[in-house]
Amino acid sequence: MPIRYTFVSDQQGTKIVNSAMKRIFFIILVMLISCAAFAQAPYQKSWVVVLDAGHGGKDPGAVGKRSHEKDIALNIVLKTGEYIQKHFKDVEIVYTRSTDRFVELYRRAEIANQANADLFISVHCNANSRTSPNGTEVFVMGLNKTEANLQVAIKENNSVLLEDDHTENYDGIDPNSSEAYITFSLYTNMHLDLSLLMAQKTMEAFNTHVKRADRGIKQAPFFVLYKTTMPSILIETAFISNYEDETYLMSAEGQNSMAYSIYKAFVEYRNSVDGSNYQPMQMGNASQSTGSSSSSGTSASAEDIVFKVQFASFKEIFSADDPRFSGMTDVHYVKDGSYFKYMCGTNASYSKAKEELTKAQSNGYKDAFLVAYQNGKRISVSEARRISGQ
Ligand SMILES: [Zn+2]
Repeated sequence: MPIRYTFVSDQQGTKIVNSAMKRIFFIILVMLISCAAFAQAPYQKSWVVVLDAGHGGKDPGAVGKRSHEKDIALNIVLKTGEYIQKHFKDVEIVYTRSTDRFVELYRRAEIANQANADLFISVHCNANSRTSPNGTEVFVMGLNKTEANLQVAIKENNSVLLEDDHTENYDGIDPNSSEAYITFSLYTNMHLDLSLLMAQKTMEAFNTHVKRADRGIKQAPFFVLYKTTMPSILIETAFISNYEDETYLMSAEGQNSMAYSIYKAFVEYRNSVDGSNYQPMQMGNASQSTGSSSSSGTSASAEDIVFKVQFASFKEIFSADDPRFSGMTDVHYVKDGSYFKYMCGTNASYSKAKEELTKAQSNGYKDAFLVAYQNGKRISVSEARRISGQ
């Protein structure tokens, strides 16, 4: 039956109104369909990933016949960061250290928590008093299921003995006392499922690209993991105490393959969490992973590179002439989530930037560290040094 309106009495008028109604109905239908399509699109968010190179500075970590754990862990972590940053513009990498310096275990968790990180990845090398054990283990935080797992955690937790106030920062737990770890029975891993997912993706990538022995995914009570408030894993890449493993760990190819595997695991982890469908890039050339060559085919020039000192993170904005910044040059901030990261001492010279770092540290910002930018884009300090030949 035709719809009749009081102000339209003839048949032609009714047709015009009907056609207008159909058009409106069609537009509403299109809007509803596009809304539904939008709702089904994967939820995209920016990510913060914390990469934690084990040990550093006065703490060499495990010592092999030819290498130190701290150096291998740092190389792998920096290369992992390069892979992730090359692929993703919306992932911020936070390094707990990007140079050879000592960082307390509790501080590493604190850095991740303050950055509101989505994922925490700690990289280490295993060691044993015997030379035969070899291969890769990936840990998530948890109670010690076996004595062997506990021994790995005790070895890593021993770093706190080099810290000034270690009894205050780890709930009074003596890292060498097996009994003391009973304290962790009160601990609940809020992110166990996602931590295990990342651990699994990492081990799968290692099995494809690294091909060391797969010693499994395990749980143990690591100090560096237990105060993080996000999914977190600790990778024991291989045994520095085993000749073949150490040779692999020291090689540019080995470090590159490990870094690539961690990056690839992150891509797949992100796909699972976000519902996205990113494809990992191809593995890069191992010769570019050593950080020592300045002729690796990059077109960037030294003029594009600046170093800065990142010295604090506040929730508020302070002006550059605030007393808390006295004596510091070029103070500015970069907004990051709900925080403002404060930086100073912008300099093209690496050695001058290091002087600025010392100044910031003696000004009370003892956790200050160097960062680097290329054309305004954050890159790793090692990459910046390589490109600028410093
Ligand atoms: Zn370690």
